[in-house]
Amino acid sequence: MVELKTPEEIVLMREAGRVVAHALEAARETAAPGRTTADLDRVAAKVIADAGADALFLGYHPAWAPMPFPGVACVSVNDEIVHGVPSPRRLDDGDLVTVDCGARLRGWSADAAISFVVGEADPSDLALIEATEAALARGIAAARPGARLGDVGHAIARDARAAGYGLTADHGGHGIGRTMHEAPDVSNDGRSGRGLKLRPGLTIAIEPMLARGGSDGYAHADDGWTVLSDDGTRAAHCEHTIAVTDDGPVVLTLP
Ligand code: MG
Ligand code: MG
Repeated sequence: MVELKTPEEIVLMREAGRVVAHALEAARETAAPGRTTADLDRVAAKVIADAGADALFLGYHPAWAPMPFPGVACVSVNDEIVHGVPSPRRLDDGDLVTVDCGARLRGWSADAAISFVVGEADPSDLALIEATEAALARGIAAARPGARLGDVGHAIARDARAAGYGLTADHGGHGIGRTMHEAPDVSNDGRSGRGLKLRPGLTIAIEPMLARGGSDGYAHADDGWTVLSDDGTRAAHCEHTIAVTDDGPVVLTLP
């Protein structure tokens, strides 16, 4: 069931979203050659704890996962698309890093992700990140009252496909509110004019994942969590939690 939120509830989600945005920025500032992915997780955890919020990923255990997620943030490097497990892995110059985290504050949730390069960047990686951010922006812009969910997915996919990027199959956005994952699913590859009609009060996480090699395929690492591109090429992932309002889409995960 899709739960529409009141304007007051959306204000509370924005407070949770601010915490998530600050946690992501802290992780980005910490990232440097020689730092570990666990270091990024630790600073994100501190921001969330200091804000009095609960980390949504820590201990999250969907049926398909072999173990509860052991971190506060997913930190995915290079060919890791999403769900990277924080570890003693040290970042290298030129690594493409995605940090994804969620928090619940006073009963309301937010979820967001950023991708960036540590140190000297390969221009192709910067182009991939730009394309992912642009896909997210277009998906958000399509989330107007009266539009349909398929319009969001179509807006995300159109330019990404034209540029030859892959869009990770079986992974996408979701409704969010009292919990991190609620109805509806928000596909990154929708058909315009199809799907749920968007109404004011709908809150969703939109999260394109683009892969440089053009493949939609993926595989799981031995840890059971980390999702890898199946052709070994690098991937980027950007996410915001947004609200559909009478005035159009509003991003809730900003600092
Ligand atoms: Mg996320
Ligand atoms: Mg999400």
